[in-house]
Amino acid sequence: MRANGGGPEGLREALERAARLPREPFLRNDPVQFAHRYPDPGDREVAALIGALLAFGNVRALLPKLEALFQILGPSPRRYALEQLPWRDLGFFRSFRSRVYTGDDLRILFLQLRAILREHATLEDLFVAPGFPPGPERHRMRLVAFAGAFRRLDPSPVTGRRAYPPGYRHLVTDPSRGGASKRWNLFLRWVVRPSDGVDLGLWRRVDPADLVVPLDVHVGRISGLLGLRRRRTPDWEAAREITDGLREIDPRDPLRFDFALSHLGISERCRGRWVGEVCRECAVARICRVGRRGLAREARAAAPVRTGGGRA
Ligand code: SF4
Repeated sequence: MRANGGGPEGLREALERAARLPREPFLRNDPVQFAHRYPDPGDREVAALIGALLAFGNVRALLPKLEALFQILGPSPRRYALEQLPWRDLGFFRSFRSRVYTGDDLRILFLQLRAILREHATLEDLFVAPGFPPGPERHRMRLVAFAGAFRRLDPSPVTGRRAYPPGYRHLVTDPSRGGASKRWNLFLRWVVRPSDGVDLGLWRRVDPADLVVPLDVHVGRISGLLGLRRRRTPDWEAAREITDGLREIDPRDPLRFDFALSHLGISERCRGRWVGEVCRECAVARICRVGRRGLAREARAAAPVRTGGGRA
């Protein structure tokens, strides 16, 4: 890890400070809030999957769409998925649109979910299915297989065509292609990390130490500012590089810091450049290269000007 000023200890302290930020204000801007509404773990798991897969683009625009969708899903998203048939709630799905996703993409997702939940009691059962030897690559191999299970069925009962529409291919990305798989990793963070008011702690058979950071533009930018990321391409390797840096600080739970990192950006507090009123309050300002420069500049400007006769 190539930490900025303050070294690894400085980074550790700064991240610990950021991780202690109050979570409630951020949770209101996070799609995981929908999963928290359900008492049943099976419903939480399905709600988390839907919320994470749709988490693309501006979160403020997304939340009302999710609100409307979860109204349709009713008190049990899992039961809805199990009972879903292609013609159910057609009016809602025909009018649904969120960024590149249409209601048809969601109807295909529910078809796949229905088949998966009939075969596996939980999504965790699917993820931890045997066949992957322990080792550093197991987590990714499991994720590739897990995502592949959502591309098994013929979508023609929904679309009349055998090929998946582009929106569905984007909704259910294929992690074997080398992308960062941000939304899959976000889902895994929510269901695997211990319950902390944001993450749900639902899965007990996946080790939090294996998780990979859900790399998006915000986490990528802040990780660069903090010296956690060198790789420029925002792909799986970059996500792993950031995770490896966080693992040096907390080997058992490296994603403990992810919520704070992502929300420094998502909540529009961090602009990636010096904004005095934001950066002065920022928990990681003394580690961030922009923050350190800005604070040093302000300190120099505030220092008393030396006057008077040092020389006779
Ligand atoms: S100091 Fe400013 S630029 Fe750096 S992470 Fe904080 S808010 Fe962002």
